Amino acid sequence: MESGTVGREQTDGNAVNGGATAEDQFEVLNPATGERIATVAIDSPAQVAEKVARVRGNQAEWEAMGIEGRYHWLGKLRDWLLDNSDRVLDTMQRETGKVRADASNEPAYLADLINFYGGKAAEFIGEDKIRPHSPLLASKKLRVQYRPHQVVGIISPWNFPLILALGDAIPALQAGAAVVIKPSEFTPLGLAEVVEAWKSEIGGPDVLDCVQGIGETGGALVDAVDFIQFTGSDRTGRKVMARAAETLTPVSLELGGKDPMIVLADADLDRAANAAAWGGMMNAGQICMSVERIYVEEPAYDEFVAKLTTEVGKLRQGPDSTGWDADVGAMTSPNQTAIVKDHVDDALASGARALTGGRPVAGPGDYFEPTVLVDVDHSMKVMRDETFGPVVGVMKARDAEEALRLANDSRYGLSGSVFGEKDRAEQVARRVECGAVNVNDVLVNYLASDVPMGGWKQSGIGSRHGEGGIKKYCRPESVVITRFGGKREPTWYPYTRARRGLVGRIAQAFNARDLKRRLGLRG
Ligand code: NAD
Repeated sequence: MESGTVGREQTDGNAVNGGATAEDQFEVLNPATGERIATVAIDSPAQVAEKVARVRGNQAEWEAMGIEGRYHWLGKLRDWLLDNSDRVLDTMQRETGKVRADASNEPAYLADLINFYGGKAAEFIGEDKIRPHSPLLASKKLRVQYRPHQVVGIISPWNFPLILALGDAIPALQAGAAVVIKPSEFTPLGLAEVVEAWKSEIGGPDVLDCVQGIGETGGALVDAVDFIQFTGSDRTGRKVMARAAETLTPVSLELGGKDPMIVLADADLDRAANAAAWGGMMNAGQICMSVERIYVEEPAYDEFVAKLTTEVGKLRQGPDSTGWDADVGAMTSPNQTAIVKDHVDDALASGARALTGGRPVAGPGDYFEPTVLVDVDHSMKVMRDETFGPVVGVMKARDAEEALRLANDSRYGLSGSVFGEKDRAEQVARRVECGAVNVNDVLVNYLASDVPMGGWKQSGIGSRHGEGGIKKYCRPESVVITRFGGKREPTWYPYTRARRGLVGRIAQAFNARDLKRRLGLRG
């Protein structure tokens, strides 16, 4: 089997999803059923280097196509994603166990992102024309061009297998870079399918590829590329950054979160409870920006908790195909189910109460019950560490100040939300220490590609979306062009009193901020 391509279909066993079965391959399971669905060959470090070298060889031609030429090809990818949406969703559901509604977000987001960066690239990374600030540079024309890193490597997680792989590849490709992606070993199939379509169905230039594997493959990609875009846990993020330091390769890290939601007493409590249920349980809570901690101003606490419990209690959980008849899907990684269980057990053992859920669901498939915990505090893992499952912890706060203090008491700072009367909620939201905050909504900032999305504190370095989300894949090159000048500049040899004196007087006149000094008279 050719390396990095999906292997033969298998339905014969109980292997661990993402587990290596032999040194050179791993297996993929359907988390909704436990069924084994594929075996994937691992790319060795040498194979990773070969693929990177191959796309590197084609990058100059891709860059030379210009913004419109590259948008032409990315537009074909958009059309393919729209035309093949059902096929893409089928594969995604098989490897993630998502419900159809959650899976359906991915092609739509990517199509929008292609149009966003295609339309904005000229504004974001087009050449800057700068006026020199100093009269000593009056003869110069200043330009800044944004040249892409040659090869961008993308290492992605399993919770949104296309959004978090192609969603970063799109701006990189639009910027003119070649891209090699290493998807998660839990969800390698959908991405491989799109990359294959780029090559064989779309006939796109050979500047996009993927490599398959686990940590070693990811490390080899870090070694081989010119820029690393990593999305995953802060634990792996540290390793990636340390590895990249060896080759001084720049990195952008999108890491975990422990997102707070603040509910003020004057909030529309129906909207707040519905938002908390969706923001905490969507994608089975496996979103870096999931609502994980909720702080409610005392007067609203009882009513909010009752509404939230009712809403979460109504959610339908289980396998979903194309029927749109389940709300909460499977846990994609069994490792994550163990973490969720550990957090919930720790909280329950320390005095928390589960008003709904609280346990994994008996198989087949890998599910955790949608869970609302109360009587929680910050000594518990569930309020401190990233749970990444369908679990929310709700705490009563004396007032908005206490809610803010608790919301900001975290090593993470990815995003957050505040519900309340619009102006008051906005004032509180502006004081949440995180990279993006929503007022009277949850998660929606991710769709606002116009603005940056990145983590503060241990939630990341750098950001995606907006101007920075494409510029980071470029290296600014300043071009300083002499418009006019004689045989030599006054600053060049030979040094004489007259020539250097003239330069000195111009500099003095320009730098001084009072007339005496401008004229060379001491103050
Ligand atoms: P992970 O850190 O375990 O793995 C992420 C990727 O890194 C995978 O492809 C994995 O194979 C690879 N990897 C593992 N070891 C490596 C190594 N030593 N060198 C290079 N690559 C290596 O994360 P995960 O469990 O797949 O994803 C869940 C995490 O991702 C959560 O913490 C979640 O919050 C985070 N996440 C963050 C964002 C964001 O935008 N900030 C978005 C989604 C998920």
